[in-house]
Amino acid sequence: MSFFRTVYRTVLDFIVPPLCPICKKRVLLTHGLCSECFSKIHFICRPYCEICGKPFEFDIPEETRCGACCKKNPIFTKARSAFIYDSFSAKLILPFKHSDHLELAPLLTNLLYRAGRDLFSETDLIIGVPLHRFRHIKRKYNQADVLAKRLAEKSHIPYHSAILTRKRATISQGHMKAADRKRNVAGAFGIKNKHLIKDKNILLIDDVFTTGATINECSKILLKNGAAKVFVLTLARVVKL
Ligand SMILES: [Zn+2]
Ligand SMILES: [Zn+2]
Repeated sequence: MSFFRTVYRTVLDFIVPPLCPICKKRVLLTHGLCSECFSKIHFICRPYCEICGKPFEFDIPEETRCGACCKKNPIFTKARSAFIYDSFSAKLILPFKHSDHLELAPLLTNLLYRAGRDLFSETDLIIGVPLHRFRHIKRKYNQADVLAKRLAEKSHIPYHSAILTRKRATISQGHMKAADRKRNVAGAFGIKNKHLIKDKNILLIDDVFTTGATINECSKILLKNGAAKVFVLTLARVVKL
């Protein structure tokens, strides 16, 4: 950070002290959580499934796969998530997704960066999961794309906003079961600028990994159109106990 930006930030923090985005307590660092809220987020760290990143509750040898990945290989090569989706971490995700809280983007990008470190060396291009244009207009921005762009800047990896498209609007998947989610997104995505993904390893960004239906559908169309590998990085992951 340049000298002038550092001075500007210090003066700004003095006038408007930074607050924890969840509990609104004063914090020392801008774009940071307070220690109490930080400790309540269940960050995902090893041991986890080498393929889909699902955390294990006990120690296992490295490179172990979870039951689902042993049964059937996912379409993507690897997926990682920063933390478990629960009622507490939802306080970070939902305001960013639905309520215009774009000021959360730097914090969320830092958390994504931390979770995706082992994917960056193999990644050629970062893209976000697209929203249908009507939903994009309603929400004002695509939260996955905002994160993808910021992560690309931070990791010095190329980014493109116009590769995947939503060909049709899908019903909100909030309470849908896995099979319904799969049906809901089948054939929902299209590709533009296909030449940009040929033989490239793509890192696909989304906010929440729930059943993997959206991610698998996006991966399928990227691979069908020439991508070499698809890696997935999400902020949160739904883990069924
Ligand atoms: Zn807090
Ligand atoms: Zn797995």
